[in-house]
Amino acid sequence: MLLTITTTYSPATDLGFLLHKHPERLQSFELAYGQAHVFYPEANRKKCTAALLLDVDSVGLVRRYHGQVRDNFALAEYVNDRPYVASSFMSVAIAKVFSSALSGKSKDRPELVETPIPLSAKLSILPCRGGEKFLRRLFEPLGYTVNAERHILDAQFPDWGESRYFTVTIDKICVLSELLTHLYVLIPVLDDEKHYWVDQAEIDKLLKHGGDWLSEHPEQESIVNRYLKRQRRLTRQALAQLRETDVDEIEEQTQEEAQIEERIGLNEIRLTKAAEVIKESGAKRVIDLGCGEGKLLRKLMKVKQFEEIVGVDVSHQSLKIAQQRLHFDRLPEKQKERLKFFQGSLCYRDKRLEGYDAAAVIEVIEHLDPPRLSAFERVLFEFARPQTVVLTTPNVEYNVKFENLPAGRFRHRDHRFEWTREEFQSWASDISNRFGYTVVFHPIGEIGENVGSPTQMAVFTQERF
Ligand code: SAH
Repeated sequence: MLLTITTTYSPATDLGFLLHKHPERLQSFELAYGQAHVFYPEANRKKCTAALLLDVDSVGLVRRYHGQVRDNFALAEYVNDRPYVASSFMSVAIAKVFSSALSGKSKDRPELVETPIPLSAKLSILPCRGGEKFLRRLFEPLGYTVNAERHILDAQFPDWGESRYFTVTIDKICVLSELLTHLYVLIPVLDDEKHYWVDQAEIDKLLKHGGDWLSEHPEQESIVNRYLKRQRRLTRQALAQLRETDVDEIEEQTQEEAQIEERIGLNEIRLTKAAEVIKESGAKRVIDLGCGEGKLLRKLMKVKQFEEIVGVDVSHQSLKIAQQRLHFDRLPEKQKERLKFFQGSLCYRDKRLEGYDAAAVIEVIEHLDPPRLSAFERVLFEFARPQTVVLTTPNVEYNVKFENLPAGRFRHRDHRFEWTREEFQSWASDISNRFGYTVVFHPIGEIGENVGSPTQMAVFTQERF
């Protein structure tokens, strides 16, 4: 079983520092169930590949873990796929052999550890229970480009059909610890099997390695469920813990941003204006993309003209808070029928987003990684294609006016960028040209001399031919 990690960062051989393994040496490690070897099939300034080869001792495995192998076919204990595929053994090996890299530590090169670099990981054989679709649903929301090649069951008997084994490559520009962490958690999830007993300690491991990305992952429940070997009690507990920390964090961050913008009640002005523009457009069916805790939904609910109001967010937790705040469960039947929620990412084409008169995208784009922004543009303007789009984002020029915001800092910890008026307007104009919309800009909030307003709004209207 082979895992290779390749970078084209320059100098690529820095991968050796990141992994704490010298490119010129073969190193071997004893593990409880076999051996792991690390070597570099290619190492030059332009390209460097590190390989982690696992040599699982299948006989030792059966002796050691006897009683845990499920198949009741006696030979199955010896003749099984474990030595040849990526499984929880690979995760254990990653944790042992690359422990500092996994935790993102480096004594010698701390700046390197923090630098996102182009990385490509290839797993020679990865069992994917749930098929390629599930494989993609795990890695793509994390920003990876996924390549998967499915293997047939037996080359001599093609009629037997396809197996659940894939050769998989995932690519992303990120820090190495992020890639290793995702592999560490998601390999056993795909395999849907673990070679050791799962208990409370496993929840801690999952929260340690998944705490910061799992809470926003659309497949959060399947990941947790499979990671914990489908033990209901542990799964419930882990999900509750994930959501708890996350709810606190969402509220804390929102409060921080609110404090910075508070002086002018900016949020209120922004949402009121958005609701007004949508009403004026004549829309009846409205979708709030990245609805967060549902503040705009609350305003929209008050307008009778809107017959259908939908809140979409990538975060389960935010949707849960929105439902609680709007007392969704206790709404009278007629109101309840007007309001819908669904969880999804705006970076993936989604049929559920189609067919609305108007869409609101309020303070959302700055939360998207710049490379994902073009996916979002197509999802909204090419595929969902609402008649009207009301979109807001901070105007970074105004930040100098916020006394409690240190220079150079964004207003919210999760903002990936904040644009000047020119940047925003050229982005929005480009979109209108490409997708057949017209766009009008509105300043939102008090206008400062030379810096414009704190929020900038673009209203896109689909051109009719
Ligand atoms: N529109 C709300 C919330 C803004 S905060 C308001 O104005 O109050 C940004 C929201 O976008 C968060 O709730 C976050 O979960 C959501 N979000 C971030 N990335 C997303 C994505 N890719 N798809 C859907 N929602 C996303």
